[in-house]
Amino acid sequence: MSAFHREKVLSVRHWTDTLFSFTATRNSGFRFLNGQFAMIGLEVDGRPLLRAYSMASANHEEALEFFSIKVADGPLTSKLQQIKEGDTILVGRKATGTLIADNLFPGKRLLLLSTGTGLAPFASLIKDPDVYERFETIVLVHGCRQVSELAYGEELVSRLRDDELFGPLLSEKLLYYPTVTREPFRNRGRITDLITSEQLFNDLHLSPLDIETDRIMMCGSPGMLEELRQMLETRGFLEGNHSEPGHFVIEKAFVER
Ligand SMILES: Cc1cc2nc3c(=O)[nH]c(=O)nc-3n(C[C@H](O)[C@H](O)[C@H](O)COP(=O)(O)OP(=O)(O)OC[C@H]3O[C@@H](n4cnc5c(N)ncnc54)[C@H](O)[C@@H]3O)c2cc1C
Repeated sequence: MSAFHREKVLSVRHWTDTLFSFTATRNSGFRFLNGQFAMIGLEVDGRPLLRAYSMASANHEEALEFFSIKVADGPLTSKLQQIKEGDTILVGRKATGTLIADNLFPGKRLLLLSTGTGLAPFASLIKDPDVYERFETIVLVHGCRQVSELAYGEELVSRLRDDELFGPLLSEKLLYYPTVTREPFRNRGRITDLITSEQLFNDLHLSPLDIETDRIMMCGSPGMLEELRQMLETRGFLEGNHSEPGHFVIEKAFVER
């Protein structure tokens, strides 16, 4: 049995010159938990070329969706950015990852902190009814350099707000906070600074970070994750994983080479 399923690309959408998203068929045997990632890629010169990708679709959806960077000289994404409807992609059979609700202690407020394509696992999680059952408030923060890089997230949230099932859940529980570092925008600044200065909480009319009630999932650049980890550990927050739940969990959005 091959280690991956061969799936057909159903649609591709380019958001900026560095970001695109695509949907693909999903083998009925491919199971995952919302927030997890799998190895996906292309067959190049008869051999699989694979990279880790978070599923941006939820596990109740029929098709798979991914939100991708375009790295100009990247072995995979220099080719993947050229895919078209009807092309074949490879999707690994096994999904894994730490961004799952069971890895967190029970809490009241869930902070989903992301930069760039680190939004992808949270695109899946905000479509998970179980997350809305477990938490009273969900705060989705997405940091980018430029306003145009927020478009995928903005459209996703606005589509869900109009959805018959998710609309009421979102209006009751989801707060969406896009922020930009290099251009004028209504919210500005790096996520770590927005939390330390409490501006994030002030802007959303929420109480500040509290270890008793707050649980955190984060996915972004290795630098941002390290800063956030240190800030949280200084405040006594414990990192969770599959063997021990904690106050926060981390997934890298990419590996620096
Ligand atoms: C757990 C995990 C989940 C991931 N999920 C996603 C995802 O959902 N979407 C996605 O686009 N990528 C994701 N990645 C990154 C992905 O695995 C590849 O690195 C990316 O697709 C580029 O592949 P490449 O072969 O073109 O270049 P690579 O040789 O893999 O990367 C080249 C360089 O490009 C930069 N880079 C790579 N990926 C990114 C990124 N996403 N954002 C900013 N800079 C980047 C890094 O500096 C890296 O060293 C994930 C990585 C990990 C570890």
